[in-house]
Amino acid sequence: MNQLSDRINNLATSATLAMAAKARELRAEGKDIIGLSLGEPDFNTPEFIKNAAIEAINQNYNSYTPVDGYVDLKQAIITKFKRDNNLNYTLPQIVVSTGAKQALANIAAVMLNAGDEVILPCPYWVSYSDIVKLSDGVPVEVQTSIDNDFKMTAEQLEAAITPKTKMIWYSSPCNPSGSVYSKEELRALADVLQKHPNIYVVSDEIYEHINFVGGHFSMAEFDDMYDRTITVNGVSKAFAMTGWRIGFIGAPDWIARACNKMQGQITSGANCIAQRATITALEADPSSIKYMVDEFKERRQLILSLLSEIEGFKTNEPEGAFYVFPNISAYFGKTIKGKTINNASDFSLFLLEEALVATVTGEAFGNPDCIRISYAASQDEIKEAIKRIKAALS
Ligand code: PMP
Ligand code: GLU
Repeated sequence: MNQLSDRINNLATSATLAMAAKARELRAEGKDIIGLSLGEPDFNTPEFIKNAAIEAINQNYNSYTPVDGYVDLKQAIITKFKRDNNLNYTLPQIVVSTGAKQALANIAAVMLNAGDEVILPCPYWVSYSDIVKLSDGVPVEVQTSIDNDFKMTAEQLEAAITPKTKMIWYSSPCNPSGSVYSKEELRALADVLQKHPNIYVVSDEIYEHINFVGGHFSMAEFDDMYDRTITVNGVSKAFAMTGWRIGFIGAPDWIARACNKMQGQITSGANCIAQRATITALEADPSSIKYMVDEFKERRQLILSLLSEIEGFKTNEPEGAFYVFPNISAYFGKTIKGKTINNASDFSLFLLEEALVATVTGEAFGNPDCIRISYAASQDEIKEAIKRIKAALS
């Protein structure tokens, strides 16, 4: 008999992590799987950051840290926000968490009451929807179009707002579409929100530095949005530090205080060594990670050009992050190698079984016509993966 809570029974398993686990399992069985499912840089953490962690261990950083993070780390985050985003935050407005994921979970827990609606422009990052539900919020999906680079327009936002709307959550650069909202596009959304002063925004900027077009803009840079925006960021992506688990927010101080209180009962704060290393990462000039961004940019060109040779893949040009999100609905209803493909999950499973390439179904991101392919893999792996996909589909 299932004795688990409704809360956990109703929670979806993270599709990205599930696919990564499945790929690992098949590899252990001896299958030559190419993993293009997980969004994690395939680079090593830069040496100067690793050295800072080693130094922290040797300096006996081993005690509980302040729940919201070391003061000098929070200071480094304040400097980073000013340097990169033109945002002015003070110490009480910063909270360091165990990854941006926990930062998001804190926000949901402290902001949402049962039934509060959270607008999620689709496609959204896989965990938003379940993090919201876990705090009894109601995700409201807004479908966008590939022809508008999967961006939500002001009209679409306006139409989705109800008296129950509490928040909007989006990422820019976006996981999974790679789209980057321009200042003008964000202004149009902000203009709608001026009519609805009780709606708060989560601006997830974790891919900020992995931007191939330049021009990253933060919603909180608008004076009239600053008090209603929570800026989420972290070191996982830009510094190849996914396993170190450090994320952070800049927020109105009453929200930051609440996240601090929440975290005090749940984790007691993020890992001390990783926090010390993050100071070094954030203090470095962003040019120190340019070699990774340049490589992602080359891979983007490579994968776009290879995908354009496969019939039935409609792909927009991502401007940041390291994903492509092709619409593959042309395959729905077709039977290939005895397997009928009715939806994106079938398609992703087909690629895993017949091409030995792991991707993630778009359904997990709120768009059932697409799949997500991560190009955080070597150029050779990308070439081989697309060759296999092409062969399996022909
Ligand atoms: N936001 C987005 C858009 C992401 O893609 C991810 C995935 N890593 C996260 C948040 C969470 O990042 P982390 O917990 O590793 O900081
Ligand atoms: N954010 C990454 C992804 O979307 C890592 C996996 C996860 O945190 O869910 O693949």
